[in-house]
Amino acid sequence: MVTEVGGCRWDWQVEQVQAIYEQPLLELVYQAATVHRQYHPQREIQVCRLVSIKTGGCPEDCGYCAQSAHYDTGIAPQPLMSVDEVVAIAQRAQAQGVSRVCLGAAWREARPGKAFEQVLTMIRQITALGLEVCCTLGMLTETQAQRLREAGLYAYNHNLDTSRRYYPQVITTRTYDDRLATLARVRHTGITLCCGGILGLGETHADRMELLTTLANLRPHPESVPINILSRVPGTPLENQEPVPFWEVLRVLATARILMPKSDLRLAAGRTHLSAPQQAWCFLAGVNSIFSSDDGQMLTRTTPCPSYQQDQDLLTALGLTPRPPRQGQQGHEWPGAPLAP
Ligand code: SAM
Ligand code: SF4
Repeated sequence: MVTEVGGCRWDWQVEQVQAIYEQPLLELVYQAATVHRQYHPQREIQVCRLVSIKTGGCPEDCGYCAQSAHYDTGIAPQPLMSVDEVVAIAQRAQAQGVSRVCLGAAWREARPGKAFEQVLTMIRQITALGLEVCCTLGMLTETQAQRLREAGLYAYNHNLDTSRRYYPQVITTRTYDDRLATLARVRHTGITLCCGGILGLGETHADRMELLTTLANLRPHPESVPINILSRVPGTPLENQEPVPFWEVLRVLATARILMPKSDLRLAAGRTHLSAPQQAWCFLAGVNSIFSSDDGQMLTRTTPCPSYQQDQDLLTALGLTPRPPRQGQQGHEWPGAPLAP
């Protein structure tokens, strides 16, 4: 029996996901575009700015990451940025139409102490500007998640990256269940969730179907679903992976839109490799969120990101507009189903 509440369901079987994904491409895109228009203002795009507040020297061994201390990627570790520096970036971003600032730290987990307190201050000050703040700080305890919530955190990012089966081939210093446990702790605080994956890690078609199924069976769905295309970082074990054909990227995005109709769907890392017409296909298939920056970087110089100006030109050409922040606004409570018992 299919359980559907307000257009969402959480009991997807991998075969059903595959059947959606394998439709003739134009059917798939049309279906995704139809779902998108049903649940989202069709002209609005969420523009986010990712700030690497603490770069490099990470003890985790994520096989794609420029910031892992396990690989020689030429990234010099940098200490936690000052509050003033980060707030200044947020103010510049806001002036460019950005509504969400994402603070990323190359940590295995957040630890109690001065650095965590400093991040809380950043959250308070950026939230006070009227922006949505997202953090990605690695694993969290329940108390830390609660403190982030009290500081006003709007979203927490913690990606599943790939299928449970393939995960140990990419990361050995933590497990899929560690990841799911942090997601559950964050969910219980009421902070919205940002959770997605990466394409191009060497995963099979079946792994992609499994990742999509896992994401779509999180109840409620993550409010943001970032889909990254691998930025191949020299020095990492995945530096020589084959690029993912664009039509497969598009199929994954369209399928994600159909499976998680109310979520924001973000085309995250790898967008610099797509042409403007390719990005337009992605927006048509339901992408309604992007990262943009003033320094051409997402997290490090090895994960590039289009500039504010390039994105403003693209959005103007396509008749799209940046979405205002939802932080503190009435009527934008997450419309997903209540937590499963
Ligand atoms: N340390 C935190 C963590 O792993 O949760 C936060 C930072 S981490 C860099 C944030 C996400 O960026 C990862 O989960 C991964 O999905 C994505 N990412 C990192 N490096 C990438 C790359 N080279 N290509 C594509 N996506 C990447
Ligand atoms: Fe560390 Fe996050 Fe990079 Fe993994 S993805 S190595 S946890 S910074």
